[in-house]
Amino acid sequence: MANLPFKKNDIVMVRRGKDRGKTGKVLKVIPEKNRVLVEKINMVKVFIRPDRSQNIQGGIMEKEAPIHISNLSLYCEQCERGVRFRNKVLEDGTKTRVCINCQTNLEKS
Ligand SMILES: [Zn+2]
Repeated sequence: MANLPFKKNDIVMVRRGKDRGKTGKVLKVIPEKNRVLVEKINMVKVFIRPDRSQNIQGGIMEKEAPIHISNLSLYCEQCERGVRFRNKVLEDGTKTRVCINCQTNLEKS
């Protein structure tokens, strides 16, 4: 399985596209497609067919569509923008990611 730079619960910033500049939380990673699902980002309309037997009313619903990782960067609260990061191994062996600008630990515990 390919290793994506983002993990579930990461806060990412959108670098291009209609949601450019927005931030959101990673809900799901899809490594085989190099895509992640980000909360409230890249919303698409889906049409739900009414189904009376299941009490589904039908209509138009919005949901997140997976977004390619090249459109995203990890968000740093200190820098208040999407940043580049580097991997760092702490003294106790824990792997973390730190902001390349301000060295803040970007890992969500
Ligand atoms: Zn930073």
